[in-house]
Amino acid sequence: MAFAGVPLNLTDQLFPETVVPVLVPLPSDRPYSYTVPDGMAVRPGAIVQVPLGPRQVAGVVWDGPTDLVDAKKLRPITHVFDCPPLDETMRRFIDWVADYTLSPPGLVVRMALRAPAAFDPQAWIEGIEATGEEPDRVTSARARVIATAEDAPAWSKSGLAHAAGVSTSVVDGLLKQGVFRTVRFPPPPAVAEPDTSYGRATLSEDQARAAGDLVAAVGKGGFQPLLLEGATGSGKTEVYFEAVAAALDAGKQVLILLPEIALTQSFLDRFHARFGAPPAEWHSDVPPKKREAIWRQVAEGRVRIVAGARSSLFLPFKELGLVIVDEEHDPAYKQEDRTFYHARDMAVVRASLGGFPVILASATPSIESRVNAVTGRYSHVRLKARHGDAALPELSLVDMRRHPPQRGRFVSPVLQTEIKKTLAKGEQALLFLNRRGYAPLTLCRVCGHRFQCHNCSTWLVDHRLRGILQCHHCGFSTPRPEACPECGTLDHLVACGPGVERIAEEIVEDFPEARTIVLSSDIAGGPRRLRRELEAVADGEADIVIGTQLVAKGHHFPKMTLVGAIDADLGLANGDPRAAERTFQLLHQVTGRAGRTGLASRGLIQTFQPQHPVMQALVASDPESFYDSEIDERRRSALPPFGRLAAIIVSADTRKDAESHAREIRNAAPETPEIEMLGPAEAPLAVVRGRHRFRLLVEASRRAPIQAYLRETLAKAPRPRGSVQLQIDMDPQSFL
Ligand code: ADP
Ligand code: ZN
Repeated sequence: MAFAGVPLNLTDQLFPETVVPVLVPLPSDRPYSYTVPDGMAVRPGAIVQVPLGPRQVAGVVWDGPTDLVDAKKLRPITHVFDCPPLDETMRRFIDWVADYTLSPPGLVVRMALRAPAAFDPQAWIEGIEATGEEPDRVTSARARVIATAEDAPAWSKSGLAHAAGVSTSVVDGLLKQGVFRTVRFPPPPAVAEPDTSYGRATLSEDQARAAGDLVAAVGKGGFQPLLLEGATGSGKTEVYFEAVAAALDAGKQVLILLPEIALTQSFLDRFHARFGAPPAEWHSDVPPKKREAIWRQVAEGRVRIVAGARSSLFLPFKELGLVIVDEEHDPAYKQEDRTFYHARDMAVVRASLGGFPVILASATPSIESRVNAVTGRYSHVRLKARHGDAALPELSLVDMRRHPPQRGRFVSPVLQTEIKKTLAKGEQALLFLNRRGYAPLTLCRVCGHRFQCHNCSTWLVDHRLRGILQCHHCGFSTPRPEACPECGTLDHLVACGPGVERIAEEIVEDFPEARTIVLSSDIAGGPRRLRRELEAVADGEADIVIGTQLVAKGHHFPKMTLVGAIDADLGLANGDPRAAERTFQLLHQVTGRAGRTGLASRGLIQTFQPQHPVMQALVASDPESFYDSEIDERRRSALPPFGRLAAIIVSADTRKDAESHAREIRNAAPETPEIEMLGPAEAPLAVVRGRHRFRLLVEASRRAPIQAYLRETLAKAPRPRGSVQLQIDMDPQSFL
C-alpha cells in the first residue's frame, strides 16, 4: 500500500517513521502531522484516530506535504478504522468548499464525519440455519420447528422458536444434534434496494422529451449541469425520477437534495410508489443509529439512493453518479452556521469534481441558474404546462388601498367572499402569511413602550397560543404580561400587525363552522406533528389552512382551489438585493398549491403596491418578463451573478470592539482593481444574542480573485482579540 507521507529529513533520528498529514474536525486551517507506527498501513482518505492534546479524535489522512513540525512533538496515529476511506473526489471537494468559503478545512471535514460510530463496521448478526441433517428422534415440537425453518433461509434462535410456537430449548436440542448450525450475517440493509422498473409512470409527450434529455445526460456521463424548469405540477418529479432510474441502472448512487421541510411523507410516498422502496433519508431528525447505518452503507455502496437536506452532500458516496437539487431556488439551501455554504452551488461543484450530471429543478429558478441556462452554461430542459387537466390558478391582485379590510382586520372583503364560495363547494382554501405567531410587535397604548428582546435589536413576537412573547433570533421568551413594565398600566397592551395566529383568530370568527388549521414551523409537537398535519390537509381533513412559507413548498393538496396571500408586500421592503426574486418565487410557489387536480382555482394577492413589477409579472402569468427585467437590473447594478459579493460580519460583546475591529479590517484591505470593500456599517440586525455586529461588504467583478483578496486582507489585519469574532459569508443571500 502506498504511503501518503514523506519521510522526514530528521537531524534528530529519534522518529525514523513516515509522517502524514491528518485533518481533524476542528477549526484548524490545515492538517496536523502525525507519525505512522510500525506495522500500520494508512493511505490518503483513511479515517483514523489521533491524539489531540489530552483527547483522542477521529480525523482523515490527507494528502499534500506535511508541515515541518519539530520531530519531538510528533505523536503517532492511534488507530485506523476499518472503514472505506474518503476518496480522492471527496477530499478535493472538501478542499474546494473550504477554499471557496474561506472556512477552516477542519470544519468542512467535520461535516463529512457526522456519524463517528459508523467508522467501525457494524456488528454482524448471529443466527441459525438448517444443515439438512435429520434429528435422531422427531417429536411434534421438533417437526414444527423444522417445517417452520423452511420459510426463511436463516433465523434467530428465539425468532424461530417463537414462530414455531415452541420453547427455545427445543431449538437448542436440534442445534446440539447438528440439525441447525450457528451462522453470522452482515447487518441488514438500511433501506431496501430500489426497483427501477417498479412504478414507472406513463409520461406525456412533453414529459417524455424532457426525461429523454435528462436520461441522455446520465447515459453520456461526465459533468453536465441541467436546469429542469417547469410550472408547479408539470411533473418535474416524475421526469427526474427517470434520470434517477437510469443512473441506478448504470450501477451508480444517486443523491436527491431537498429543502429540509420538503422531505415530507408525500415525497417519500411518491418515491416509494415509483421505486418500490423508500430512499434513505438524511437530515437532522434521523435518529443516530439510523444515521450510522446509512453513513456506513453509503460508503460501502450498499445504500444506492439518498434523499436528504444540504448536509447529505458531505456523505462519503462510493459511486455517486447523479445529484438532483429539487426546488433549487430555495433559500433553505444556504447554510449560515459555522460554515457558510450554498448547497445548490456546492452540488454543482461536487458533480464537476466527480464528473457526472447534476439536475437543478424548479418552477421558479434562481436568477443565477436562469442566467446560466440562458447563456448556455447549463442545459435548459423545460416542461411546458401542468400535467393532465390541471391548470395553473387564475391570479388577481387585491389593491388594499381600495379594498381595505375592516379596522383591526387583515382579510379583505374580496378574499372573504372567495373563501365563502370555496367552502360552499367543499374545497379547501390556503391563506399565506410569512409570519409566525400572533403579532410581530406589542406596544403599550398609554406610554408607547415597545417590547424588545434583551439580547437582540428586535421586537418580541407575540405567540398567543403559547402565552409568550418571543425573540425569533435568540429564542428568548417571557410570559405575556398584563401590565406594561414601563408605566404599570393594566390591559392596555396592543398587538401591532398580523401573524398567522391572528389571521386564524379572524377566520375562526368569520367561519366558525370551517375546520381551520395553522401550519408554521413552531407548531407544537415538532416536525413529526407537522408532517402529520400536512398529510391531514392533503387528505382533505381541513377546510382552511393558514400557513407560513413552509406551506409554499412542494406539497400536493388535491382539494386546494383558493390561495390568498395576506401581505404580499412583506418581503419587498427590506432593501435586500434578492427581495424581488424571493417575493416572486414565494408567491408563485404558494399560489401554485392551488388547482393541482383539474379543479378551477384562484389566487388572490393582497398588496399595497399593485404596480410593482413582481405583482404585475405574477398576475400576467409572465415569469419571462419578470426574469428578463430582474436579470437586466442585476446586470446594471453588477449584482450576482454579474458581480460577486462577500460579507464579513464582525461581532463582539461591545459595540465599540466590534466597530473598531471592523475598521482595522477595512484599513488592511489592499487596493485591488475590480474589488471594493464597503463599510463598516452596523449590520441590519445590529445586536443578536447580546453580540454587537458590524458588516463589511465586498463587491467584486465576476472574475476578480475575491478569495485571495479576503485572505490577504485578513492576514494583514490584526487577529481577532477578546470577544471579537469574524464570520465570512461568500455570496450572502440576504443582508441581515
Ligand atoms: P412538479 O414536481 O413539477 O411540481 P409533480 O411531479 O409533483 O410536478 O407532478 C404533479 C402531480 O401530477 C403529481 O401528483 C404527479 O403524480 C402527477 N403527474 C405528473 N406527471 C404524471 C404522469 N405522467 N402520469 C401520472 N401522474 C402524473
Ligand atoms: Zn433575542
